[in-house]
Amino acid sequence: MNMRIGHGYDVHRFADEAGENSHVTLATVRIPHDRSLLSHSDGDVLVHALCDALLGACALGDIGDHFPDSDPRFAGAAGRDLLTAVLHKVALAGFRPVNTDLTLIAERPKLAPHRETMRLALSRVMDLPVNAVSIKATTTEGMGFTGRREGIACHAVVLLERDTDGSPA
Ligand code: MG
Repeated sequence: MNMRIGHGYDVHRFADEAGENSHVTLATVRIPHDRSLLSHSDGDVLVHALCDALLGACALGDIGDHFPDSDPRFAGAAGRDLLTAVLHKVALAGFRPVNTDLTLIAERPKLAPHRETMRLALSRVMDLPVNAVSIKATTTEGMGFTGRREGIACHAVVLLERDTDGSPA
């Protein structure tokens, strides 16, 4: 089998209180916002969904299996580092990413001004052309936890191909 598809989904909750220096980190990009996301790691919901999609495509379990939030080594873990580690596991399994399509679900912050920066950042970490990294955003029109601005959700889909230069699976 030379191609694999994977899907990932993640959610992080906003802190109740606005804090000094509050921000969200999405696709490794720090975006100022009036509230931060609560997380054991840096709360990069987009990277976490992408990591689960990559692991899923290789049937390697999920991000919680590899980086348990009970493990102090991963406290405050940067999305970039988690993604790099997951890409290494994908390479060891004999695959490499072809493209990814990510859908963020949030009322705020508005992502359009940051989208190209986020695509570029992910393309660099994933060693993909920017046109192979899609980031879309939608609201839920005020409904549900994302609509009430209680948190941000993200869906990720990724396609992998057999890496003929890499180690055999
Ligand atoms: Mg997460």
